[in-house]
Amino acid sequence: MSITSINPATNEELKAFTPLSKDATLEAVARSDEAYQSWRKTSFAERKKVILTFVEKLRERTDEFARLITLDMGKRISESRREIEFCAEIAEFYANGAETFLADQPMENVDADAYIHYEPIGVLMGVMPWNFPFYQVTRFAMPNIMAGNAVMVKHASNVPQCADAISRLFTECGLPDDVYTNLFIPSEFVESIIADSRVQGVSLTGSEKAGAAVAAAAGENLKRSVLELGGNDPFIVLEDADLKETVELAVKGRMVNAGQSCVAAKRFIVVEPVANEFLDGFKEAMSALQIGDPMDEDTTLSPLSTEDAAVKLQEQVQSSVDAGATVLLGGDRPDREGAYFNATILTGVTPDMPTFDQELFGPVATVYVVKDEAAAIELANRSSYGLGGSVYTKDTERGQRVAEQIETGMVFVNQPTNSQAELPFGGIKNSGYGRELSHLGILEFVNKKLIHLG
Ligand code: NDP
Repeated sequence: MSITSINPATNEELKAFTPLSKDATLEAVARSDEAYQSWRKTSFAERKKVILTFVEKLRERTDEFARLITLDMGKRISESRREIEFCAEIAEFYANGAETFLADQPMENVDADAYIHYEPIGVLMGVMPWNFPFYQVTRFAMPNIMAGNAVMVKHASNVPQCADAISRLFTECGLPDDVYTNLFIPSEFVESIIADSRVQGVSLTGSEKAGAAVAAAAGENLKRSVLELGGNDPFIVLEDADLKETVELAVKGRMVNAGQSCVAAKRFIVVEPVANEFLDGFKEAMSALQIGDPMDEDTTLSPLSTEDAAVKLQEQVQSSVDAGATVLLGGDRPDREGAYFNATILTGVTPDMPTFDQELFGPVATVYVVKDEAAAIELANRSSYGLGGSVYTKDTERGQRVAEQIETGMVFVNQPTNSQAELPFGGIKNSGYGRELSHLGILEFVNKKLIHLG
């Protein structure tokens, strides 16, 4: 079966790609390993030259690549352009920083001269999602290519135009053949790639189900893995928050990528004294969003990535409503072609409802009203996820105190969780393990070799 790009704004089929056979996939692994054996010997300067060319071409062709993102998965065109610029920033960060991040680290307070020497480990497998089709690949590929590894990517099956464009771009910027390999393959092939002795690790961003399958295969074959899975991030509003600004940030934090971000704010936990004012402002701002063609610059709410995603979200919302939750806004799909879903606010969701601990991957906010700060922290931590979160208060010390009590990998004070090249990104609990971006991201798949000089 072909791997097909379908425009979620119209449900029109755009372009089909032929998948690789199992044999061709394993031949690609062999070529990747061969490429690794040379690439690992290149200098940081040579790698940097290639990656900075990649950056230049990305920036020159922003509009072309942004268009592909929007066609494949429906993101608003301005967000697609921002995604391309962010990829350029990440690539630049690792091109310029890799040599420093991987410099020998002398050991202190030991009995002899000793140091940590960083080395690449081999071919890595990346299993990537569709929600940020250029960014997710960049986040995985750049640190690892700069570290001297070779990478193979199985991208999500609904973003093949992006997968193809990224792969071509690597070739155009002078990366030797097979240091980066795009694999048009079904997810069933991933396990045998992980099992191949030439492959040394796997990184997956996606659902818990896919993460568990990949981690099981990695475990069975004693391979390293990094998992970046879902989130159900709390957005905690305390009584001393700047409410006007907090409402604006709440909309921004929830509606990034039409709500399809692992670190989107999903659970709005508001203390009683400001609950009504927050809800009024939030409802007004969410109702003002304009559903429309994601290519149109005036659109503020784009479709979801696929028709299936919209159907699944509708089922999740309905199951909450059936169990007694209240729809304050939206709750359904507009009467138009495409994978659209109306901006939605739910209240009255309780722990016994199925969606309480599920990730709602779309424009649906759940608002909880709690008595005080302590209750807010308790509810925030009542989640099987532990990715990000944010706290809103004019008192920064209070924000810091609350942030330290939230059980997630990242907490921001007075801004929604976000991703930057120089900041570590990742979670705990069912949100996965390992860190991407920052200097930590390049240390996941390198040999931290001890050299002891006696
Ligand atoms: P998936 O986890 O199914 O897809 C992510 C990637 O994993 C895709 O490349 C997919 O391939 C691949 N994959 C799926 N199953 C396996 C498997 N058993 N072995 C190896 N690879 C696999 O996400 P969905 O697109 O189905 O989205 C479902 C939910 O996951 C969302 O609603 C959201 O809650 C969460 N999600 C979280 C993301 C995040 O950023 N953390 C990103 C995407 C989804 P293929 O496309 O061929 O199936």
